[in-house]
Amino acid sequence: MKNNPVALITGASRGIGAATAIHFARNGYDICINYNVDHQSAKQVAQQASNYGVCVEIIQANVSQDSEVVAMFKKLYSIFGKLDVLVNNAGILKPQMPLLKMSAERINTVLTTNITSAFLCSREAVKLMLAGGSIVNVSSGAAKTGSPHEYIDYAASKGAIDTFTIGLAKELAARNIRVNCVRPGLIYTDMHSDGGEPNRVDRLKHGLPLGRGGKPEEVASAIYFLASSAASFTTGSFIDVAGGS
Ligand code: NAP
Repeated sequence: MKNNPVALITGASRGIGAATAIHFARNGYDICINYNVDHQSAKQVAQQASNYGVCVEIIQANVSQDSEVVAMFKKLYSIFGKLDVLVNNAGILKPQMPLLKMSAERINTVLTTNITSAFLCSREAVKLMLAGGSIVNVSSGAAKTGSPHEYIDYAASKGAIDTFTIGLAKELAARNIRVNCVRPGLIYTDMHSDGGEPNRVDRLKHGLPLGRGGKPEEVASAIYFLASSAASFTTGSFIDVAGGS
């Protein structure tokens, strides 16, 4: 049996998470693909990743729910027996609107899905990273812009992820667990449809210094770099993958 490193990517049924899972598989990682509702898409990502000859598992869990996260890590451990890399990628946004129209239910759903999930998954991951490991959080350029009139709840959740990265990196350094973060900018994924504007990247791309939107694979390679031994002296750090914005 091969002793490949193992990576868990949350929210890997599509978009940046899917590209990241495939990137890790291409680089010889056994991977665990987490998703919440879209089993069919998760299966397709798993099939692509399997082409690289690594072990691939799919685990459904709503990562904002404590019991589901605990069950996911229990299953992961029973299959792989260890964990080397956690990518806290799962995230959502809701239709664009100003704060004045936001319900408490919406705000809480965004915050728990985008923030609580990273806390819970990191907590369980640390228990399996006995010989050290690496956690990469996926924040957003929105943490810096605040996304006024669109989704300040989402932007604030990403600000929390930035702060979480800084604190957790210091907390886990003595365990030889590095914690870093990527902040994507305008990336072509289906997330923008969830915000009610499928063509948002094309509307805004000309305002970026590079003048174009990003591809999920361009975020995946930054995530992989931070997780890999190429970044062995890097913790509590951020890479903006945002076309220069
Ligand atoms: P996406 O295409 O909407 O994909 C989101 C993924 O998260 C899906 O696989 C979805 O799985 C999963 N997910 C959602 N809620 C979940 C939950 N409660 N539990 C488990 N999985 C859940 O998003 P994306 O654009 O790839 O974004 C990925 C990350 O990058 C997010 O954190 C996002 O905030 C960040 N980001 C994206 C952009 C961008 O321009 N796209 C920019 C900055 C930051 P199911 O479909 O199965 O629910």
